[in-house]
Amino acid sequence: MQDPFDCTPSAHLQCVSNALAQADSLCRQRQVRLTAMRRKVLELVWQQHRPIGAYDLLEQLQQQGRVAPPTVYRALDFLQQQRLIHRLESLNAFVGCARAEHPHQGQFLICQTCRSLAEISDPQISHAINQSAAAAGFTPLTQTVEVAGLCAGCRQKEQADG
Ligand SMILES: [Zn+2]
Ligand SMILES: [Zn+2]
Ligand SMILES: [Zn+2]
Repeated sequence: MQDPFDCTPSAHLQCVSNALAQADSLCRQRQVRLTAMRRKVLELVWQQHRPIGAYDLLEQLQQQGRVAPPTVYRALDFLQQQRLIHRLESLNAFVGCARAEHPHQGQFLICQTCRSLAEISDPQISHAINQSAAAAGFTPLTQTVEVAGLCAGCRQKEQADG
């Protein structure tokens, strides 16, 4: 996959088609149905390397015809269960996952300026969290690590603007 912070609109067409192909093959393997609605929602989540909220997704779908909110929420639930998307708790938004075939905890770098997001998947981070949690007698069920900051492009712009 392209570096999300550096992905151009033309390169991104490939990100989207890879993500949809991955979803098609994983759902076939898992014998679950990637319905037209679920696939459409996945495609919309993948439209950018930026988190998108359920409400924005609903609005975009409704521009293409009548869609009931529960339909969208159910599609998002399904995509989360199949680990095709991650939910970002702090932003209450969703982002596509390019490595859905490997179970992993989500670790994200989020640019505060342009809202671009890159997923890093470092088993050492999850391991360190699990160890610290165990030492505190705590059993983690899910982990989402969100790191806010500046992407290289926005940092350069900020320096240029002085
Ligand atoms: Zn891309
Ligand atoms: Zn992921
Ligand atoms: Zn940025």
